[in-house]
Amino acid sequence: MTITIVSSENGRSGAMAAMQLMREGGSALDAVELACRIVEADPADHSVGYGGIPNLLGEVELDASIMDGRTLAAGAVAALHGYGHPITLARRVMEETPHVLLAGRGAERLAAELGQREADQRTDAAIQRWEERFAQRNVDRGAMPALRTAASVMTGPLNLRDRAAWGERIDTLGTVNFLALDGQGNLASAVSTSGIGWKYPGRVGDSPLIGAGNYCDNRYGAAACTGMGELAVRAATARSLVLYLKLGMSLAQAGAEALRDLDFLDAREGHYMNIVALTPDGEHAGFTTIPGKQYLYQQSDMKEPILADRQSLTSDTFR
Ligand code: ASP
Repeated sequence: MTITIVSSENGRSGAMAAMQLMREGGSALDAVELACRIVEADPADHSVGYGGIPNLLGEVELDASIMDGRTLAAGAVAALHGYGHPITLARRVMEETPHVLLAGRGAERLAAELGQREADQRTDAAIQRWEERFAQRNVDRGAMPALRTAASVMTGPLNLRDRAAWGERIDTLGTVNFLALDGQGNLASAVSTSGIGWKYPGRVGDSPLIGAGNYCDNRYGAAACTGMGELAVRAATARSLVLYLKLGMSLAQAGAEALRDLDFLDAREGHYMNIVALTPDGEHAGFTTIPGKQYLYQQSDMKEPILADRQSLTSDTFR
């Protein structure tokens, strides 16, 4: 069995730790959780976990999901505020509740019940970015403290709907994906993100939605997404790619079909979607709706992860 880890471009440190764990006999499920935790703890990654990009209110809201290819068990949390390591909470949802997805206050309650300490996920850099963004837009800075209270969200004078469009800028995207194949031939997948920057409070993207941003089935393969999450939600991208594998397509064909689904959505200028995929025999690939994107992979005979090009519908492989 070719032990394999596949990740989005920002997953290097997590991928190396995951590979080490699986080389020592660890499971794919433990490997993808560990890998996400490393990226979540890294304040230098501005799109995942601690130090993630704030929403319109200046708060960091985290999304994550995990899936076990052996059983199709899955767990997820969405719009988690004030607690770290959403991937571990997602795993606890999977293992300790009858549910798949807990959102907002429910996810925070579970974190507290599990003894997790509250921890502000905002770094000074994140707060500064948010304040600069608001200042750039000539927002009355005096109104900012009021924006932070729940009451003002519900009744405040500021109409956040007008500003939700700010979250559509693609300079503030970022998510980490990990797909793993362990020495027992089991697949697992994990996704963690702070979502698109400046999002409307409570906005949930593809990352915590099983089937949209994450899907994994030992029999056919695993897939996960990064990019403008609304696209993967509408096209059920991760599940679709795995379903195309189930229907007998090659990995390249399945990826191309998932890209065609996304193409049909007529996405707005600059909105893109990336996919990584891994089959039960260790074949891997990355796909993208805009050319020039890469992903990372490492197999057991490699010293470290390397970058590979993602295929787009304009790639030679698809002609
Ligand atoms: N897919 C994530 C989301 O929409 C963001 C990203 O991958 O950049 O929340």
